[in-house]
Amino acid sequence: MPYELPPLPYAYDGLEPTIDEQTMRIHHDKHHQAYVDNLNKALAGTEWDGRPLEQVLALLDELPEDKRAAVRNNGGGHANHSLFWTIMKPGGGGDPSGDLADAIADTFGDADQLKAAINDGGVKRFGSGWTWLTWDGTGLAVVSTPNQDTPLMTGDVPLLGIDVWEHAYYLSYQNRRPDYLAAWWDVVSWDEVGRRYDAARAS
Ligand code: MN
Repeated sequence: MPYELPPLPYAYDGLEPTIDEQTMRIHHDKHHQAYVDNLNKALAGTEWDGRPLEQVLALLDELPEDKRAAVRNNGGGHANHSLFWTIMKPGGGGDPSGDLADAIADTFGDADQLKAAINDGGVKRFGSGWTWLTWDGTGLAVVSTPNQDTPLMTGDVPLLGIDVWEHAYYLSYQNRRPDYLAAWWDVVSWDEVGRRYDAARAS
């Protein structure tokens, strides 16, 4: 069983009032756990078992055809949620700093315009999916993906991603996805996004 559910790096109620405790418990302990379990089930007994997840997701086309959909959905889900927990923190919010802030200013004008672009991608994502800030190898980009697809599948580096599946917000926000997206920035960890930006450029 190579893949494991990472512990939530703060208390379940640590992101309140932006994200409520019950949502965090169900989201982390049930949804994310299920992605991990189903990913392990799909890869058990194959040569892919135990390979770094980012590698597996970048090489989906090489997987046995009968495993591909399960790995795409559950491997993507595991990667996306593992990132998601770390780019939020209690007492988050504020503004990006350092090189990341400079790059955001160069690419989008300022952080508010970046947030607007990411939120727009999340609002327009029909059904379930994610809205992202990525490093594409040469610069920053905003993209959105359906279901549990991840920028890793196209060789891009996800720096920040917001889960817009209903399970991420329904208990507190019901159908009001735009309100959830607007509030989400109160828990963003710009420190972690900046660390990921530095690491992506260095690799
Ligand atoms: Mn989710």
